[in-house]
Amino acid sequence: ATPTALAVAAGRGRRLGILLRGPQVLETSRKIDTVVLDKTGTVTTGRMALREVATTTGVDTAQLWRRVAALEAEVDHPVARALVEAAAQRGQVGGATGAAATEVEVLDGLGVRGLVDGTPAVVGRRRLVAEELPLDLAAAFTRAEEAGATAVVLAWADSPDAAPVPRAVLVVGDTVRETSAEAVARMRSMGLRPVLLTGDNPAAARAVAREVGIADADVVAEVLPTEKADAIDRLRAEGHVVAMVGDGVNDAAALARADLGLAMGTGSALAVDAGDLTLVGDDLRAVTDALRLARRTLATIR
Ligand code: ADP
Ligand code: MG
Repeated sequence: ATPTALAVAAGRGRRLGILLRGPQVLETSRKIDTVVLDKTGTVTTGRMALREVATTTGVDTAQLWRRVAALEAEVDHPVARALVEAAAQRGQVGGATGAAATEVEVLDGLGVRGLVDGTPAVVGRRRLVAEELPLDLAAAFTRAEEAGATAVVLAWADSPDAAPVPRAVLVVGDTVRETSAEAVARMRSMGLRPVLLTGDNPAAARAVAREVGIADADVVAEVLPTEKADAIDRLRAEGHVVAMVGDGVNDAAALARADLGLAMGTGSALAVDAGDLTLVGDDLRAVTDALRLARRTLATIR
């Protein structure tokens, strides 16, 4: 009876938009008590757009967007896509056809740096820029984060051997998926504890958490991609059986480290490969569908 029940479960899963990677997935699913949710692209749509720009006085905005376009041209990240789009709307295109950056370094979970027109430039998290932010930029940064948005710093140097000077704060925002709050409520009703895990800043993370019904205590923010897997390990060390839901390249290690990795199929192929289970659509409610299906299938087998 077992292979038949599994085949039926697999078929039912497919109709629900769930691809199972093997029979052991069902057994693991039954024991899950904690569901770790990546924020960007999982709980939110991951389609970010520019919301605000704050600059220091006297900044040439054409130079500003030229640098953004050049640095972010080839980067596969929601923040990068929002900035590339904003730059294009202002007539600045990077990459092969436009402003090119050289010696580009994409720093996973931090930002990107390189040389634009031969001088150092960087865009990304605050800690990438050694120099203190001037007061007006710091204020814009704090305001954006408290509003739940993601703020990044743009800095560039005036000469090839100078250090980048912070000149702008670029604020991008994302929207929570319509189905995410309902999905979190369903997890709770199944006795599961949802945890939000993100590389984004704590204020933005808490704003999203509140919107979907996750307590501040269950928010783990400002984690680097490599630390995402550590956060999973920590929960497991506490005795929890952990499912991780993620969409991005950033999440592959954490997906692999969790007892059960659930990849949102709309994300990167890397995440899908790392998952035990793929959620084909963009609806987080499929998480509880998948876990319920697994529980029911096992009940049938026994
Ligand atoms: P998440 O966990 O929410 O998917 P990431 O770990 O990918 O986020 O990124 C964390 C933070 O690093 C972003 O919120 C952003 O501030 C910064 N960041 C990452 N990549 C870039 C980039 N290409 N350009 C600018 N900032 C970036
Ligand atoms: Mg993500």
